[in-house]
Amino acid sequence: LEVQDTQLLEAQDQEHLWHAMSRHVEGSNPTIADSGEGAWFTDVNGKRYLDGVSGLWCLNLGHGRKEIVDAAAEQMMKLSYFPLTLSHIPAIKLSAKISELLGASYKTFFSNSGSESNETAFKIARQYHIQTGNPGKYKIISRYRAYHGSTLGALSATAQANRRVKYDPGVPGFLHVPPPYSYRCPFGEEVTNCDKVAADMIDQMINWEGAESVSAVIMEPFISGGGVIVPSAEYMQRVQEICKKHNVLLICDEVVSGFGRTGKMFGFMHSEGVQPDIVTMAKGLTSGYLPLGATSVKSEIFETFKEAGADKHLRHVSTYGGHPASCAVALKNIEIIEKENIVSRVATLGESILGRLKDLIEHPNVGEVRHKGFLYGIELVKDKQSKEPAEDAMLAKVIGLCKEKGLIIGRNGDTVPGFNNVLIIAPPLSSTEEDLNFLVETVENAFNQIN
Ligand code: PMP
Repeated sequence: LEVQDTQLLEAQDQEHLWHAMSRHVEGSNPTIADSGEGAWFTDVNGKRYLDGVSGLWCLNLGHGRKEIVDAAAEQMMKLSYFPLTLSHIPAIKLSAKISELLGASYKTFFSNSGSESNETAFKIARQYHIQTGNPGKYKIISRYRAYHGSTLGALSATAQANRRVKYDPGVPGFLHVPPPYSYRCPFGEEVTNCDKVAADMIDQMINWEGAESVSAVIMEPFISGGGVIVPSAEYMQRVQEICKKHNVLLICDEVVSGFGRTGKMFGFMHSEGVQPDIVTMAKGLTSGYLPLGATSVKSEIFETFKEAGADKHLRHVSTYGGHPASCAVALKNIEIIEKENIVSRVATLGESILGRLKDLIEHPNVGEVRHKGFLYGIELVKDKQSKEPAEDAMLAKVIGLCKEKGLIIGRNGDTVPGFNNVLIIAPPLSSTEEDLNFLVETVENAFNQIN
């Protein structure tokens, strides 16, 4: 691009485009992407960056996969749009493929985003209990620090103070419990089995609220945007047990962790024996090439929506949900993930190359390095002993130094005021070994330049 074209774009960006989440600071030039190739993108000034957060942890296969683009184009020529009030071939094939990957029989409802897939799950969970004779079961439990989406229902499940404060009150019936956050155990520093206490807290809350009023528990297997919280495998097993005991549905939000990000096809698969009642997906389902959300519900639950005689169907529709092109893209995306053994590659390289990030624990300002597959969180503190969170400026400095060298890394969202001190690294799952080495070296160098 010519200099004057770039300047015009920057001016128009500031004049007309409302950026998500960001403060509009007069005179600050945004990063405007022009093109991408693999794990890298190039901005309008011609500078290249390795995208160490895969966009918003969704561009799992990187830019420019011709097979995916062709799948979308071919599908659009063949059948440009069709609603799922009826049916079409790519949606049928994709729903069958999702059941196969989930390892049990599920029925899948398609939408357009992660937020929408969670909204759909909440409606299904509430209606399910009505249809099975428990109309009082409507409350939905989620965890503090979790992010489940931006629409009002999904935001009500999102227990992050700063995201909510200007939009509350949320939807009635959402409750929050502490997360299994061993590094800062919400139940006290002396607690050594934080995961177990955190799981048991769900049991207690259900008892206190009355099981007859509780519909579902929603959780990510590993809290991602809320600061990369990685509980033991037993945590979800215990949560599943508790849910079953109280006839409460377990909704697993796999929007980030689904499709290989953590070194298994789905995050819940790290906990043997766990089979969620409902699984929600988006992002990695299409590697971000087109919007698509999915809410997969165990067939036993679906059965209660089709009993003859009564008006028991799900009163829910999404015009663009399960768009034929999005489904075709998802199918091609999954085909590539399988063909290229992406999931085992993530498990291996997430330890071998990215595993070097764990050595950052030697740095005086690193309190903990948490990880699963290609999802890393580095928690910065002022002091290891006191664990006081590092100042914003320190995180900004690391992020800025990386950016200067051509690497984008992220940080956790508005979890708890004063606790946005976790750097997040989540590169495309198809990143080359050279890309990953560059990422690790760049982050190491940045840390060498602070204190
Ligand atoms: N759940 C989780 C765990 C997420 O990280 C996100 C998005 N960051 C969502 C749901 C919402 O997805 P979307 O932005 O597609 O609505």
